[in-house]
Amino acid sequence: MELNVHLPTLVMLSIAVNLLIGALLWAVYRLRDNQPCFLVWTGACASFVLGSLLASAGAFIEAPLLTVLVGHLSLGVSPLLLLAGIHRLMELPFFGSRHSARILKFASGIYVFGLVVSFEGDPVAARFLTALYSALLFSLAVYRLSRIKRKPRLPFRVLQSLFAIHGILMMIQVLTIACGRSGLVTVDIDAMLSLILFNHLLLATATVLALPLLAFTQAEQDLRELAERDELTRLLNRRAFYREGLAAFEQARQRGQLLTVLMIDLDYFKQINDRWGHAVGDDALRFVATLLAEELRDVDTVGRIGGEEFAAVLNTGNRAEVEAITGRLLARLAERGRVVAGRPLYLSASIGGVAMTPETGSFAEMMQLADAAMYRAKTKGRNRVEFAPRVDPAV
Ligand code: GH3
Ligand code: MG
Ligand code: MG
Repeated sequence: MELNVHLPTLVMLSIAVNLLIGALLWAVYRLRDNQPCFLVWTGACASFVLGSLLASAGAFIEAPLLTVLVGHLSLGVSPLLLLAGIHRLMELPFFGSRHSARILKFASGIYVFGLVVSFEGDPVAARFLTALYSALLFSLAVYRLSRIKRKPRLPFRVLQSLFAIHGILMMIQVLTIACGRSGLVTVDIDAMLSLILFNHLLLATATVLALPLLAFTQAEQDLRELAERDELTRLLNRRAFYREGLAAFEQARQRGQLLTVLMIDLDYFKQINDRWGHAVGDDALRFVATLLAEELRDVDTVGRIGGEEFAAVLNTGNRAEVEAITGRLLARLAERGRVVAGRPLYLSASIGGVAMTPETGSFAEMMQLADAAMYRAKTKGRNRVEFAPRVDPAV
């Protein structure tokens, strides 16, 4: 393959780009309250720069310990730090979870051993080992990112694609060297290196733009969770529940569908606190939240809108279906809430329900009607469900 690129220029360009990227990552590290993943990624750039400089120096000085061994080790450490940065971001140990840590440590051991054994006699072997090791690290990074179930998915997908291309590129290098060695084909190593460096330049730039995107979207997600989730139960808080409920209401109206709002208030909860203490009361609230999340469907919206008051928006206006759901809820609560945190709490709740009709004016109106129905359930003896009377459109 004919490639009209001046290799030393490309190497220098690659070093310059990595220096700039490293500086950018370090600045982000300082600006983002010293978030350690950015420091680790800065290290990845620094070790790539060092590795490239040392490996290039091999053309001018005869010091394989420095130019081959240390040079390639630095090049190999670079993707290792990239992966470690992802681990840091996900609050995992440096080498990742136990299973992948074992693979990583084993592969790193073989890589270092191979370099130490071969560096003096065979610089191409060092290149081969580094490319193989890097391909493994990029594959692990793709795997690690696929295991993360956080949202939004876009930055993860972008990074996965970039790492996958990085990995494939490294494997091409491995295969080219292997083919060259076997004598099956003649390979222009310099042309190959140029091609790889050129691609590396593009990929490194794209990756570095995607890394902060990932960290920023995660931070935003964490802040959102903090602002919208109730700390005790992790359900939506009052504000977020109203927002989601309103959105569901508007959507149902647009699509000509119906929904039901439920207000769920625990019975005699104050007595539980008085008898068993606030901590047991908290356990009971967490228990109820888990039960609600389990019993209702993913398409339904559940929130904790007050102390011992929960609310739900069900994606159905069918009364028989809602009665079955609420009846099951009360039965489960009675059954599983008999003993919570080792205490005989005998939990129960009063539920008020209201179904949306074509005449329903607003979501707030539904909440008020559900609240009134819930109070009727209280006065009628608790541990029961009451529905808001249907409005007759003819009246
Ligand atoms: P009712 O059947 O009429 O609803 O009686 P109740 O005792 O459940 O209602 P009341 O409104 O009198 O008391 C609600 C209690 O909920 C009072 C308060 O101590 C308790 N509570 C509110 N928020 C929390 C919380 O976050 N943790 C705990 N442990 N208790 C809470
Ligand atoms: Mg109550
Ligand atoms: Mg209450």
